[in-house]
Amino acid sequence: MTALSFNKVEIDLKALRDNFLNIRQAVGPQVRVMAVVKADAYGHGLERTARALYQAGARVFGVAETEEGAALRQAGVEGEIIVLLGPCPDHYDDLIKYKLTPVVFDLEVLAGLAGRAAQLDAVVDVHLKVDAGMGRLGILPEQVRPFVEAAAQLSGIRLSGVLSHFPEADNPAARARTREVLERFRSALSMVGGIAADRKVLHIANSAALAYLPDTHLDMVRPGISLYGCSPDGAAGQVCAGEPGLALRPVMSFKTRVIQVKEVAAGTGLSYGHIFVTGRPSRIAVLPVGYDDGYLRKFSNRAQVLIRGQRAPVCGRVCMNACLVDITDLPGSAEIRAGEEVVLLGRQGSGEITADEAASWLETINYEVLCLFGGRNRRVYLD
Ligand SMILES: *Cc1c(COP(=O)(O)O)cnc(C)c1O
Repeated sequence: MTALSFNKVEIDLKALRDNFLNIRQAVGPQVRVMAVVKADAYGHGLERTARALYQAGARVFGVAETEEGAALRQAGVEGEIIVLLGPCPDHYDDLIKYKLTPVVFDLEVLAGLAGRAAQLDAVVDVHLKVDAGMGRLGILPEQVRPFVEAAAQLSGIRLSGVLSHFPEADNPAARARTREVLERFRSALSMVGGIAADRKVLHIANSAALAYLPDTHLDMVRPGISLYGCSPDGAAGQVCAGEPGLALRPVMSFKTRVIQVKEVAAGTGLSYGHIFVTGRPSRIAVLPVGYDDGYLRKFSNRAQVLIRGQRAPVCGRVCMNACLVDITDLPGSAEIRAGEEVVLLGRQGSGEITADEAASWLETINYEVLCLFGGRNRRVYLD
């Protein structure tokens, strides 16, 4: 993880800003865009990512925890910062000090926060989370009215937004159920006199809803994965079907280099367990990357890497800090030496390994690949 590591994750800040601007343009001037930068900006680095997005015009940020919001303020990020997981009592002072906007779903916690804010002569904006079908965080629709009425009695807080979340917006086969969630959210709001009309910010759309369901945009959208240039459903490239020109570019690449090339005979067992045995005389490159770097053991005998723009298969077990690739069939294979660049995620020449492809090797989703690679390696920012 030091500056001298063989491995690096590159973050293309221009691609990030372009993705934000494309989303901004697609939703139009009436709709705000909350840039979701939780989880260390999906592995892209919280502060650098948020600062680049701010430069591109982002004025609302979404983080998971108070601590991340405080870190953004300390990095000089202005604008509104929504804390999606809400507060607990030891967060009250930081929420107030850093002017963060917590999501709330618990009256006792809200009353505690309000009391502390009133003591400090502050007013904290809060957004109410409604569980309209996600089945996770939030109050149920029938609890909205009593909650809002009770909140109205509290000084020290101001209910300035109401939000919900979709469980299946990425699934075209579940459109009808997604519409039901939207309708349940709308009707929960209409039960409460004035709340929707009262300039409250209403928001429900993640990247998938933003892309596929324009009528879910409401007052604000909350893109995460699409900012980072990946699709919420593994579909390549194009978010906002029917919105011409909204192509997204992946922001993250992951690179290493060859540290040794060796010629081995047919019948040679490679790496721990010898789960790979060469079937012919082979040229093998040793790479200084392994599961400690987020290049998980599951990639053993499955993944591919790019060298000189061509694909080479990972052969044998991925170790803690090393793995092997078979470069026998690469054009120019004989010239490959220690120091040759290897791309594990991203583009090289005309080749590309996408987060979706890496996710398929790991039997997971692109989100997890970004968090994994980004979280485990030195990041280098390109601007
Ligand atoms: C993470 C998150 C998002 C962003 O989701 P993407 O699918 O990455 O766009 C939006 N809203 C909430 C509440 C979230 O937790």
